[in-house]
Amino acid sequence: MLARRRRLAAGLSDPERTLRGVLLEEGRRCSSVGCRCRRGELHGPYSYLAVYADGRSRTIYVPRVLEDATVAHVEVTQRNEALLAEVSQINLELLRRRALE
Ligand SMILES: [Zn+2]
Repeated sequence: MLARRRRLAAGLSDPERTLRGVLLEEGRRCSSVGCRCRRGELHGPYSYLAVYADGRSRTIYVPRVLEDATVAHVEVTQRNEALLAEVSQINLELLRRRALE
């Protein structure tokens, strides 16, 4: 269990790239009255990052040039958080066994 915890912790990478959120693609309506988007032909799709913080979720526009970097950040974050969730399960088990140091 301790060896597994060590392996999981060693798998963490690039914590400075942590970016929590979910990438979405959405079409948008503009403000001009006669535009085709008013008939359902939306502009885009554009990329957004849906972020949950302080009890509410917001979406932040992701410019095309930053899409790859944003995807990379979100992916490394999801990998790290999956590893941390497993480390936490192991520590929880150690606590149950009164073996947490
Ligand atoms: Zn429009």
